Amino acid sequence: MTRDPRYDILFEPVKIGPVTARNRFYQVPHCNGMGRVYPSTMAAMRRTKAEGGWAVICTEEVEIHPSGDHSPWCGGRLWDDRDIPYLARMCDGIHEFGSLAGCELNHAGQMCNNDYSRMVQLAPSHMPISSIAPKQARAMDKQDIRELRRWHREAALRARKAGFDIVYVYAGHQLSTISHFLSRQRNHRTDEYGGSLENRARLFREILEDTKDAVGDTCGVAVRFAVDDMIGEPGFTAGGEGRDLIEMMAEIPDLWDVNIATWEHDSATSRFKESGFQEDFIRFVKGVTTKPVVGVGRYTSPDAMVSLVKGGVLDFIGAARPSIADPFLPRKVEEGRIEDIRECIGCNICVSGDHSFTPMRCTQNPTKGEEWRKGWHPERIAPKTADESVLIVGAGPAGLEAARALGQRGYAVTLAEAGSQLGGRVTKERQLPGLAEWGRVADYRTYQISQMANVETFLESHVTTEMVRELAPDHVAVATGSHWRRDGVGRTNMNGISIAGSCGVLTPDDIIGGLKPEGPVIIFDDEHYYMAGVIAEKLVQEGVDVTYVTASTEVSTWTHHTLEQHFVQTRMMKAGIKVRTAQNLSAVRAGEADLACIYTDEISTLRGTVLLATMRLPDDALYYELLEAGVENVKVIGDAHAPGTIAAAVYEGHQYARELGEPPTEAVPFERELVSLSENFPI
Ligand code: ADP
Ligand code: SF4
Repeated sequence: MTRDPRYDILFEPVKIGPVTARNRFYQVPHCNGMGRVYPSTMAAMRRTKAEGGWAVICTEEVEIHPSGDHSPWCGGRLWDDRDIPYLARMCDGIHEFGSLAGCELNHAGQMCNNDYSRMVQLAPSHMPISSIAPKQARAMDKQDIRELRRWHREAALRARKAGFDIVYVYAGHQLSTISHFLSRQRNHRTDEYGGSLENRARLFREILEDTKDAVGDTCGVAVRFAVDDMIGEPGFTAGGEGRDLIEMMAEIPDLWDVNIATWEHDSATSRFKESGFQEDFIRFVKGVTTKPVVGVGRYTSPDAMVSLVKGGVLDFIGAARPSIADPFLPRKVEEGRIEDIRECIGCNICVSGDHSFTPMRCTQNPTKGEEWRKGWHPERIAPKTADESVLIVGAGPAGLEAARALGQRGYAVTLAEAGSQLGGRVTKERQLPGLAEWGRVADYRTYQISQMANVETFLESHVTTEMVRELAPDHVAVATGSHWRRDGVGRTNMNGISIAGSCGVLTPDDIIGGLKPEGPVIIFDDEHYYMAGVIAEKLVQEGVDVTYVTASTEVSTWTHHTLEQHFVQTRMMKAGIKVRTAQNLSAVRAGEADLACIYTDEISTLRGTVLLATMRLPDDALYYELLEAGVENVKVIGDAHAPGTIAAAVYEGHQYARELGEPPTEAVPFERELVSLSENFPI
């Protein structure tokens, strides 16, 4: 297949100062939970994107000095020359495919804990550091400012030595000392670095000019800048100082990488923002600079990309998440394979990897984070090792991914689904408020297997042990999913909740299945991810009086890891959902329930029907029946193995397909990156 000529514009080369990008696909800097801690993992992950056609591939934040020590976050580091080889490996991988490597240098000042370096934090003014640790950052004096400029310059030279083609000056997300100087809230100085915008931007301008002077002859010098802090007047706004600043410095950098702050806003999930949500903020930028502009907005549609370029909004299509979900997105556009694009669903499970200081994972792309460790490629997979058949029972995320990947390997696959649609939980959950895009998990795989002659799909086929015996496949994967339990067992109440005999409690399955409760509903969230919150939203939209109860001190606590917690709580409170935090559900009787304060045990009683979102149980009966019946080569995968995220189910489906018929590939029990021992021992 060849490219549709209407996408030609996306493949035009674009100059960034002294370097030229081969097309307009630009992977902006993004965290990944790998960085300096898992550098081979990081380098392999970035290399895959170069192979997939991204013309520019950037690092995450790269620390320039120990006084900006972001530990335990696993970003990049260029404190001294010893750090160069780790990042050089990334550059080499990117250059293999003719792409450009960009390095986002940063000094994060008061955003850092400096727990490893144990240095005092630096800031424009005396200020507590941003985390709640009992530490304060010190107001930088002129010598500190000179030192910061020197560190940045030296780091830029190191970046060039590592092989980077583009070097960033980072003023985005309120995550850098430069952006702290810009901020009217953080910068209380009365010298030439405080007060007017020109003064607050002085450090930014100086570092930008230093960087151009140091490496600008051979490297493109880019700026990442948040045009709007999303806090109104005390911050930058796209119509106010955000615009003024770009006008002031319009022609100094070789590229403007623009977005909105903070990270929660920049990487908003599909539950809260649609693709293209930043456009209104950044549209003005091209009107005030002749330099190329890159912006983001979870763009996955090449038509939208073309209209952004033709409409004069962007020169480069920036992407973090779309490049994670599909590292081969540009190649697929180039080869006219639009239907094969694995579109990001905007769930931010990728961010949760960074937040837990481990290599990121992705709901749509199970190979993400496993490029080095397991050698998994997002597009290639080994052919089958034998002419064998595989029966997959259940077409949720696990079963669908197993069928897709086994089909790609050439196995004869039968996918049997009891329901009338493919997709399992995703098909149901995509109906819930804000989760429509999650349906892409099913859509992508359904289309892929529809193109495979060796994958047969059967709907409304409830598989039993007898049927398996009759079919006698060579292998069986049981991907039969899970259900929410009804007895209250969970994190807070490990022995369950006292529920009076005849009173019916509900679970999320009932509401997802279409049940409309009568009267007020009390939702008890002991899962702490999204389900209780979205069920509460759905019911309140239908006019139900909803009280959300949790033993946590806030709603949907785990959604901090997906950058959503603040938005979830705000939306729930504004929707009129009554929120009762720090309360356990201690007893349920017909039409009422007791709540117990987690600190004082004080009991209060609420009227309503109880809905329990505590935990799920695997639907694994078929699996154990098959084992009992002596059926061979049976494996249980996905939620039927252990209920978890959709990402985990997709991963297990993929892993099953990868490993079927293959000898164990790992030379050691578990491949991993090892730190090397220092020669400088003992002290
Ligand atoms: P996962 O997330 O692990 O993929 P899901 O719950 O999304 O799990 O999907 C499980 C799917 O398995 C559901 O669509 C369900 O209808 C189907 N299923 C469960 N039991 C059987 C069975 N015995 N035969 C066929 N399909 C089944
Ligand atoms: Fe997109 Fe979710 Fe994958 Fe992140 S984890 S890239 S948000 S699909």
